Amino acid sequence: MKNIYLIDVTNRDGVQTSRIMLSKLAKTMLNLYLDDMGIYQSEIGFPTLKHEMNYINANLDLAKKGVIKNLHLEGWCRAVPEDIEKTFKNCPDIKHLNISISTSDIMIEGKFQGRKTWKDVMNSMVEALKVAKELGAETVGVNAEDASRTETEKLIDFAMAAKENGGTRFRYCDTLGGDDSITIYEKIKKIAEATQFPLELHCHNDLGMAVAVSLAGAQGAIECGVDAYINTTLNGYGERAGNCDLVSIMLALKFSHGFEDKVHLADKIDLKKSWKMARYASYAFDIPIPIKQVGVGANAFAHESGIHADGALKDRRNYELYDPEDVGRGEPELLQTGRVITTGEYGGLKGFRHVYDDLGIHFHDDKEARRVLELVQYSNLHTQKPLTDDELVFIAENPDAVTKIMTVSPI
Ligand SMILES: [Zn+2]
Repeated sequence: MKNIYLIDVTNRDGVQTSRIMLSKLAKTMLNLYLDDMGIYQSEIGFPTLKHEMNYINANLDLAKKGVIKNLHLEGWCRAVPEDIEKTFKNCPDIKHLNISISTSDIMIEGKFQGRKTWKDVMNSMVEALKVAKELGAETVGVNAEDASRTETEKLIDFAMAAKENGGTRFRYCDTLGGDDSITIYEKIKKIAEATQFPLELHCHNDLGMAVAVSLAGAQGAIECGVDAYINTTLNGYGERAGNCDLVSIMLALKFSHGFEDKVHLADKIDLKKSWKMARYASYAFDIPIPIKQVGVGANAFAHESGIHADGALKDRRNYELYDPEDVGRGEPELLQTGRVITTGEYGGLKGFRHVYDDLGIHFHDDKEARRVLELVQYSNLHTQKPLTDDELVFIAENPDAVTKIMTVSPI
């Protein structure tokens, strides 16, 4: 049996979603939290996009300095040679990529409108892959967009071409979220068996099954002797009805009846960070966590009806599959109800020093304090919401990176 890894795509699929967005500072904080949690890889954004450049390069710098320790920082672009060249022009130090092209007839006909045939799609992918390897990519995931509406034989050919030309993994995209668990399980088994190439599962939630189909796909892959990589997002944010929720899939891999006691999660994941991560994502995206959200919703461990409350009080296992502590809940949270000093966009040195003293951070001299204060002012301007303690600490400890992250120039 092989392993299962998690690749979080919040900073790509999550942020490209209609009407929801993240500041570059918040994207960076998510990368730090994902690293801290022990997630394998973060799809950090679009290296071909000018306004992502400085954020991506600053995050690559943070990895070089060891602030981001183990997380693979990966950029997404189209599987066309021009995009790969632009990627390395904008972000010369990027080492991990996922390159994407549509593979289904319906998309090839509907999107390319006669400009590209199946053969052209294959050629473009292979050419892009070769350019990526030449320009220094260490790993390249090769994405088949709309794989779930593509014939299995074609996917096998596509994955084999990726394997033979230096690709690292094949990403099976259920772009429209149309797969069910049995269909994806059988399809992935066929692809894994034929290619013996590591498989990524990228599943959407249009039928409410993103977590289930990701799990079933991963099961198919590992049964056939290849590693599986599940794509996730924080709180399930993503195009339309969203993607496979990170906390849900971690819980499913640990506690679902088919997986409990034989967990294949390769990453050394600290599930206890879930509560904090989910709450930060909710705060940063400005989207409340639904009351019934898996693991982190207000009702995830609440019992009221007579039979349930009685049963849970006698033995929590009567009505709870796992404990609140498993996802980092259970600690009381302090709420300041009296006088409070904050710092931000219009803050001055006195209040700023007071806030940082409370965080245990002291500055050598006024010059250093003034520089960080200025960054705090700009960070607050940038995020347009009160800065969190973790953000304040990050700003003080990484002033150069923060300066770069916030530098966005349309010219
Ligand atoms: Zn997607």
